[in-house]
Amino acid sequence: MSVLEIRDLHVTVETDAGITPILNGVTLIIRKGETHAIMGPNGSGKSTLAYTIAGHPKYTVTSGTITLDGEDVLAMTVDERARAGLFLAMQYPVEIPGVTVTNFLRTAKTAIDGEAPPIRTWTKEVKQSMKNLRMDTKFAQRNVNEGFSGGEKKRHEILQMELLKPQIAVLDETDSGLDVDALKIVSEGVNRAKEETDLGVLLITHYTRILRYIHPDFVHVMIAGRIVEEGGPELAERLEDEGYDRFVDPALQPV
Ligand code: ADP
Ligand code: MG
Ligand code: MG
Repeated sequence: MSVLEIRDLHVTVETDAGITPILNGVTLIIRKGETHAIMGPNGSGKSTLAYTIAGHPKYTVTSGTITLDGEDVLAMTVDERARAGLFLAMQYPVEIPGVTVTNFLRTAKTAIDGEAPPIRTWTKEVKQSMKNLRMDTKFAQRNVNEGFSGGEKKRHEILQMELLKPQIAVLDETDSGLDVDALKIVSEGVNRAKEETDLGVLLITHYTRILRYIHPDFVHVMIAGRIVEEGGPELAERLEDEGYDRFVDPALQPV
């Protein structure tokens, strides 16, 4: 059983203005098979948490720990984190000019498994996953994220997730910019992975809409780099009705 443990995490980022603290003591424990939603207003540090888990060099951990089954994730390279079973779907996926989707997926799979996947079963798997995500087969020959629409980028992220079979996936605003049909397709992909591989999910989102399709076991509210409230799915419903105001401005707290 895999468990990702984030304990009292403090993270800074270096900007022109100097070193700015972004995460101010985040503690979260995500077990395989569980779905956790992190919700919060823009700028609260959600993406910073995702990037820190993934090992983005821009973010410096000043204190706290991240472990996966007791292993120190912060001591791992980005590749080692992926091999250990962590997956990040980015809020803004990057273009990789000159690399086709097919080659990218195969290279990633080979790097993670330590050997190339058997060509026949692999090709079949890729085709099936693309079909599941209603992606045109022509898509496989396009360069990664080059000229992809918002929805295509998100589907491509989920395609990677389906094929790489991580233990724990961090999905950063996978719902942003999707119309309802695309949102359903992407959510179905996540739910399939939950069912088939008992995936643990850290679902980062600003809106409650995606939680109608991917049901969280736990909801955490992040404000200014801290988790300020935690609960079950009912917390998402409250946020849907009340928004984040009562967390952000004490003057707006109901009496
Ligand atoms: P969220 O994903 O919740 O919208 P972010 O983690 O993207 O929040 O950002 C949190 C805060 O950290 C913001 O004030 C943002 O401007 C700042 N920040 C995040 N990443 C960087 C960066 N690479 N350079 C400068 N500031 C950053
Ligand atoms: Mg944001
Ligand atoms: Mg973000």
